[in-house]
Amino acid sequence: MTQHNDLAALDKAHALHPWTHFESFERDGPMVITRGKGCDLWDVDGKRYLDAVGGLWCTNIGLGRKEMAQAIAEQAERLGFANTFVDQSHDPQALLSAKLAQIAPEGLNRVHFTTGGSTAIDSAYRMVQFVQAARGFEGRTHVIARRHSYHGSTFVSMSLGMRDGDRSPEFTYKSDTIHHVEAPYVYRRPEGMSVEEFEDSLIAEFEAKIEEVGAEKIAAFFAEPIQASGGVLVPPPGYLKRMWEVCQRHGILFVADEVVTGFGRCGEWFASETIYGVTPDIICCAKGLSSGYQPIGAVIFSDDLWLDMSGDRWYTSGFTYSGHPVACAAALKNIEIIEDEGLLSHAKEMGALFQQALHGLEDLPIVGDVRGHTLIGCVENVADKTTRRDFDEGIDIGRRITDAAEARGLIVRPMGSLNVMSPPLVITPDQIDFVAEILRAAIIEVT
Ligand code: PLP
Repeated sequence: MTQHNDLAALDKAHALHPWTHFESFERDGPMVITRGKGCDLWDVDGKRYLDAVGGLWCTNIGLGRKEMAQAIAEQAERLGFANTFVDQSHDPQALLSAKLAQIAPEGLNRVHFTTGGSTAIDSAYRMVQFVQAARGFEGRTHVIARRHSYHGSTFVSMSLGMRDGDRSPEFTYKSDTIHHVEAPYVYRRPEGMSVEEFEDSLIAEFEAKIEEVGAEKIAAFFAEPIQASGGVLVPPPGYLKRMWEVCQRHGILFVADEVVTGFGRCGEWFASETIYGVTPDIICCAKGLSSGYQPIGAVIFSDDLWLDMSGDRWYTSGFTYSGHPVACAAALKNIEIIEDEGLLSHAKEMGALFQQALHGLEDLPIVGDVRGHTLIGCVENVADKTTRRDFDEGIDIGRRITDAAEARGLIVRPMGSLNVMSPPLVITPDQIDFVAEILRAAIIEVT
C-alpha cells in the first residue's frame, strides 16, 4: 500500500497525462499498472484486471511475450540506433518495409516510417500535397476529413480529427485547409431515414463539399474505415467504397487511417480493402503494428504515388526515430507471431463470439445501441431507448459504468455515454464471457 501511495503520489506530482482533466486527476490520481500478461493487467496493489481495451486499441498479440522481449533486447544490443535519413538504412527497416509491402493491398509497396499514428497522419498530410504538386496540381493543398474522427494529437492530426469535446478552447487548430463532412453514425442518423437513404445523403454531402471547396484545391480525403475513438462508427456497407469512387472521379487521394483497424483488429491485416473493397492510395498504421511493444508508425503508399513523386526533388519529411531499428525489430516479431499463431483467423472466430456477447446486453434498459466489428466493440448508453435521448452530461454514465466494471476487475473505456472495447486478439471464449458478464453487472449497478 505504501508503494502504491508512493508511485501514485510521484506520478501525480510530476506527470501531465494525455487528456488530463485537472480537477478529477487531482481528486482521483492515477491507476498505477505494474505488470501485464496476455489480456490481463495487475496494478501495484496486485489487483488483476482483464483489459478489454487492449491498452489503447493496441496490445493485439497480448502482453508479456518473451519472444518480443528477446527480439527487442537482441536488437538493442546489436544495433540500438541507426539513422535512416537520406541514404542510410539497417536490416530491420529493410525487412519490415518489405514485409509490410507483402501484407498490404496490392500496389502499396512503399513505406515511410514514423514514430506512431499521429506522425503517420501528419506525414501523410504532407505526402499528399507533395504528390499532388509533383503531378502538377500545386493548388491541391486542402483535405477533407469527418466529424467524430480521431487522427492523433499533433497540430495537423488533431485538426483533422473532430470529436465532440476533443478541442480545448485554449489551443488553436488548423482550419484554413482542413474541411469536415458528417460521419456515418448510423444509430444517430436523422429520424425516419433508412440506412440506405442515410448512406446516399452522406455521399451527396461529400460531393457538395467538394463542389464548395473546389476539387482543384483538394489533395486528399482522410478516413478511418471504422471510426474508433469517435464511438466505433461502423459505416453502412456501401459507404466507404462510394466515398472512394467519388475521390477517384475528382483526383482526390484516399488516405485510410488504419491505426486502429489494422493488424487483425478486424480479422484482416487491413480493413479498407478486404472488408470494404477500397484500395487506398495511402494506409497509415501504428498500434497493432508492434502491438504497442515499441512506438512505431508507418505510411504505406502506392507505387503510383512513388513514381509521380520521385525524380529530381527532395522529400524533406521524417524524424530522428523514423524506422528505429528496435521498433522495426519489434514490429517484425509481432507480425511473425500474428502469422505463426494464426491470429487473424483466431480474431475472426473470437470476434463473432465477442459481438454476440455484446449484443446480449441489448435487453438492458439503458443500452441503446451495440455495434462493432470483430474485436472492436461499443455499447451506447441512453436515457431513453425509444427516443435515443442522451443522459445529461453531468451524469457521466460511461465513466460510472467504467468505474463499476473496474471495481469488478474489468477495464472498458468510457467515452461520454459510450463504453468502448478492443481486446487483444488472443482473447479466449471464457474471457469474452467475463467481459459481457461484468459489463452487464456494471450497467445494472449504475442504472
Ligand atoms: N489514428 C487513429 C484512428 C487513432 O485511433 C489514433 C490513436 O488513438 C491515432 C491515429 C494516433 O495515434 P498515436 O496516438 O500513436 O499518435
